[in-house]
Amino acid sequence: MQLYDQHLHSHHSFDSSANPEANVRAALDAGLAGLTFTEHFDTHPSEREACIYNDKTYSQTIHDLRRKFGDAIFIGKGIEVCFQPDNLDDIVSFLDHLTFDLVLVSVHWCHGYPIHIRDVWKDRDASDVTRWYLEGVLAAMQTCERLHRNRSRVFDVLAHMDFCKRYSKRFADRICIEEHTDLTEKIFTCCLEADIVPEINTSTTRQGIGESMPGPNLVRQYAQLGGEAMSLGSDAHRSEDIAADFPGEVANLKSANIHNEAVYHQREKRLIPLD
Ligand SMILES: [Zn+2]
Ligand SMILES: [Zn+2]
Repeated sequence: MQLYDQHLHSHHSFDSSANPEANVRAALDAGLAGLTFTEHFDTHPSEREACIYNDKTYSQTIHDLRRKFGDAIFIGKGIEVCFQPDNLDDIVSFLDHLTFDLVLVSVHWCHGYPIHIRDVWKDRDASDVTRWYLEGVLAAMQTCERLHRNRSRVFDVLAHMDFCKRYSKRFADRICIEEHTDLTEKIFTCCLEADIVPEINTSTTRQGIGESMPGPNLVRQYAQLGGEAMSLGSDAHRSEDIAADFPGEVANLKSANIHNEAVYHQREKRLIPLD
């Protein structure tokens, strides 16, 4: 099996100190066919200053790694864009001027608030906050679908689509995603229409949540709606987490009737069979 890890960070992201070369070595040790770096790009005014994204130094790192390891493994240059509807024009023009293998879109903020802060969950029912978050993801995907209709694809992969469950577990000790399958169905349908592939993000599997983002039941829902492929991402911020829990997730994908990983080279999607 020739898997890619398509969501991981290095010291080119503000919240990681991972050495990029150590990431490649970890991917080789894990037997991967590819790894795609997806460094953070955050444009909210409260985060813009902390965002250290520097395309020049990042591209140089990718170039050097390809020279050293390019015969043994595919090394992708990707980016994790934090979806901010108010800055969308700037984000689109920023992406248009640079080259990437893969562009992840992440909904970390919702209706103007970051979902990872305790205040968002305080004195509110966790299921209501979950619904509010998923409505934000749906609005983001509807925007992507509109963009896709008017021009070429802006984003390739929807990262951790039920990201809020990490925080509902942390702040309310509950996971309520499956109370809102009407919304997850709409999100997946929108993804299919916008040619955006949802990711299986394994960070929650190793963080005590007990399942990936999204979990097996949502993967099954995606397959039933016609989804044929997903992207796999460890969201590693440390080299040792590259490809974490991939064998179990591949088994989950196959039992949910997803038989391909969607991988991206220069924004072109190709499907790699999982069996
Ligand atoms: Zn993220
Ligand atoms: Zn990430």
